Amino acid sequence: MGFAAQVQPLAFENPIAHANRITNSPRELAMTQKTLKDLFIHELSDVYSAEKQLTRALPKMARAATNPALAEAFTQHLEETRGQIERIDKIIESADFRLKRVKCAAMEGLVEEGKDVIEDVEEGPVRDAALIAAGQKVEHYEIASYGTLCTFAKQLGLTEAMTLLKETLAEEKATDEKLGLLALQQTNADAARVGKEK
Ligand code: FE
Ligand code: FE
Ligand code: FE
Repeated sequence: MGFAAQVQPLAFENPIAHANRITNSPRELAMTQKTLKDLFIHELSDVYSAEKQLTRALPKMARAATNPALAEAFTQHLEETRGQIERIDKIIESADFRLKRVKCAAMEGLVEEGKDVIEDVEEGPVRDAALIAAGQKVEHYEIASYGTLCTFAKQLGLTEAMTLLKETLAEEKATDEKLGLLALQQTNADAARVGKEK
């Protein structure tokens, strides 16, 4: 018996592997990415979904913030986020592919955590500190995504796409730094005083 003949039946003995073969599971969809370009399109579609979700979440985060500088940072980044979506549209226009129907599950979870903060923490500096933490987690996810996309674009020779993706990457990094500074400058010090003033 050859190696393949020994291995093949095992896949069907595993009920999860079997289910993955007969349903349109994420795993099966993932297996449609055969080339680096397929993977690039998948990642770009994922981050497009992430940005769309953020255009709905950022106004809520801005409204939930107490520190006006924090609210302003979220509102300003909402504008940038809209521009980032336009950049992805530009990449698609200039290229010979379409986006896939992908929902970024990671951003869905990060946004959900942001909602929990708003519901569970009373308005004030402690909530602001939690909002900053939620915001920075979002930016770090985006930094990882756009960093990867820049590398893929470079390897694929997609020069214009790479230029546009780098612009967005710079905005995500700047936002992360701005949120970090707000935490250092004011918010966390105010948050640390809550509960101690007696
Ligand atoms: Fe973004
Ligand atoms: Fe994602
Ligand atoms: Fe961002």
